[in-house]
Amino acid sequence: MTTLRLILGDQLNPRHSWFAEPDANVVHVMMEIRQETDYVRHHAQKILAIFAAMRDFAAQLKSQGHRVRYVAIDDASNRQSLIGNLDALIAHYRAAAVEYQAPDEWRLDRQLAEWAAGLPIPCRMADSEHFYTARGEAAAFFGARRQWRQETLYRHLRRQHGILMDDNGEPAGGRWNFDADNRQRWPGHPPEPDDARPEHDHSRLLQTIVDAEVDSFGQPQADALRWPLNRAEALAQLRAFVEHALPHFGAYQDAMSPRARRLFHSLLSFALNVKMLNPREAVDAAVTAWRRGDAPLAAVEGFARQLLGWREYVRGVYWARMPGYRDCNALDHRLPLPRWFWDGDTGMRCLAHAIGQSLEDAYAHHIQRLMVIGNFGLIAGLSPQALHEWYLGVYIDAFEWVELPNTLGMSQFADGGLLGSKPYAGSAAYIGRMGDYCAGCRYRPKQRVGADACPFNALYWDFFQRHRARLAANPRLALVYRQLDKLPEAERAAIAARAAALQANLDTL
Ligand code: FAD
Ligand code: SF4
Repeated sequence: MTTLRLILGDQLNPRHSWFAEPDANVVHVMMEIRQETDYVRHHAQKILAIFAAMRDFAAQLKSQGHRVRYVAIDDASNRQSLIGNLDALIAHYRAAAVEYQAPDEWRLDRQLAEWAAGLPIPCRMADSEHFYTARGEAAAFFGARRQWRQETLYRHLRRQHGILMDDNGEPAGGRWNFDADNRQRWPGHPPEPDDARPEHDHSRLLQTIVDAEVDSFGQPQADALRWPLNRAEALAQLRAFVEHALPHFGAYQDAMSPRARRLFHSLLSFALNVKMLNPREAVDAAVTAWRRGDAPLAAVEGFARQLLGWREYVRGVYWARMPGYRDCNALDHRLPLPRWFWDGDTGMRCLAHAIGQSLEDAYAHHIQRLMVIGNFGLIAGLSPQALHEWYLGVYIDAFEWVELPNTLGMSQFADGGLLGSKPYAGSAAYIGRMGDYCAGCRYRPKQRVGADACPFNALYWDFFQRHRARLAANPRLALVYRQLDKLPEAERAAIAARAAALQANLDTL
C-alpha cells in the first residue's frame, strides 16, 4: 500500500515531520516541470538554484533511506505538468493515497485541491510547518478593519511568541520600534561584510535546462552560483550574517549605494522561502546575539520585524485577498515597462545600478526594490501587473505569496491603501538623502524641469497632481500637498508638461 508524498520546489525543509523516519510504504515525489518554469519568465539563476537545491534535497533524502522518485526536466517520462506526472505516478506505483504539503501559492493550492476532489483515492494536505502564523490567521486578527497595519500584527505576534519581550509584558528596551535610529545614510564604513555565501559550479545543469528549451533572462553565473543549496549552507550563511552584518543591519537598513550590493542585509530570503531555513531560527539567532551583547537592540528589533512582522503579514494579506488581489490597480496605471528593465541600460544611475544588479545577481535589497525601482514605476505610472511579472521573474526569492503584496500593495499602492497608509513615492531628494547615486548621474537631482532635470522630480510632483482626487485627503500627505500648492501655477504646468514628455519617452531615459 504505497502513499505518494509530493514535495514542491519551495518545500525543501529536511526538518519537516514527514522525514522523521524512513517508511518503505512512502514514495516522495519531486519534479522539475515546464508548468513551473514557464508560468512567468524567470531569471536563469532562479531556475538553476531551485533545481540544484531540489536535486541536493532528493539526494539527502535518499541517503537517509527515504524512497524518492525524482522527475528531472529532461526525463522522457516527464509530462511537464504537476497533475500529469502525479496521475502517471499514482498508476505506476498503484498508490493507495496521496499527501502534499500546503502550497504557498494560490495557483498551486487551487490546482491541487481541485484535482484532489476528483481522485478515487484519499488525498490529504499537511501543514508545511514553516510559518509563525496559519494562512488565515492575519485575516481573523484584522477582521473587518479597513486598513491592515503591519505594526499591529507584529506587536501581537511579539507578545504571542515572547520575542524581545520583558517579563513585565513590555517590549525589550521599552520601545516597539527603533525605526528612528535605523535610517542612516551609509558613509562607506563600516565596510560591507564579505559575502560568505558558497560558490557552486552548475554549468552542466544549466546546459540541461537550456537543452530543454526553458526560456529565461538575466546572468546565470552557473559556474559560480552564489545561493545556498541546502540547509547546512543556509545555516552557515545565517551564522555569517549574525556575526558580521547584523550589528549594522538596523543603522543602514534604509541606505543604498552604487558601491555596495547588499550593505548589511542578510541575503537569506532564498533559503527562507524554499524553507531550508525556518524564520524562527533566524529570529532566535538574532535575539541570542543581542542577549550576548553582540548586536544592538535596534538592529535585532529591525531584523525580527522583517520576519515576524512583514513576512507573516504579507502572507496574510495574500491569502485573504487572492485571487482578486492580482488584478488590483487602484491608480489605473497602464504604461508598459521601459526596455531598460531587461538590460539596465538607462542614464538614471540609481536605476541602472539597481536593475543591473538585479539582472546580474537575481538580487537587490529592499530599498533598491522599493525606493528606486518600485518608486519609479509608481510615479511614472507603469502597469502594476507588468511590474509584478518582472519582480516575480527576476528575484531569486520571488514567490507569489510574498512578491505580490510587496509589489502591488506596498510598492505600487495598487490596492488603494490596504497595505500602506501612503504611497512610497520619493523624488531625487529622497534618493540623494539615503544614498550616493546622484553624484555622477547624467541627470541633475536638484532640477525639476529641463532636459537634464532628474526624471524622478517631475514625475514625483506630477504623480501627486494627477492623483489629487484620491490622495489629497490623506493626512499623511498634507505636507506634500501644501508644498505642491505653494508652487506657482506656471511651474506646476511646466512639471506636468515635463512629466508627460518623460512618460511618452521612457525608453530613452
Ligand atoms: P533582509 O533585509 O536581510 O531581511 C531579512 C528577511 O526578512 C528577508 O530575507 C525576508 O525573508 C524578510 N523580509 C524583509 N522585508 C520583507 C518584506 N517586505 N516582505 C516579506 N518579507 C520580508 N521578498 C521576498 O522574499 N520575495 C519577493 O519576491 C519579494 N519581492 C519584493 C518586491 C518588492 C517590490 C519589494 C519592495 C519587496 C519585496 N520583497 C520580497 C521583500 C524584501 O525586499 C526582500 O525580502 C529582501 O530584500 C530579501 O533580501 P534579504 O534576505 O537580504 O533581506
Ligand atoms: Fe537617480 Fe535622479 Fe539621482 Fe540620477 S539624479 S541617481 S536619476 S535620483
